[in-house]
Amino acid sequence: MTHPDPIDEAAERERQMIEIALANRPKPTMTYTGFCHNGDCGEKTSKGFFCCSECREDYERIERAKQQRRVA
Ligand SMILES: [Zn+2]
Repeated sequence: MTHPDPIDEAAERERQMIEIALANRPKPTMTYTGFCHNGDCGEKTSKGFFCCSECREDYERIERAKQQRRVA
């Protein structure tokens, strides 16, 4: 006679909940590298992800375009 092990079932449920939580978490796509994240720029930055506000705006525009392409 077999019956579901309540401990295994709970562990499986918990694992699924963790997977869902991870999937919904915003991905940390940007890490601090010390260089401007605007692809063509490559300037060194002392802090933050971009050397100037123009680069940040460029980057955000490109990212937005990528997301829209993914949706369409
Ligand atoms: Zn830059």
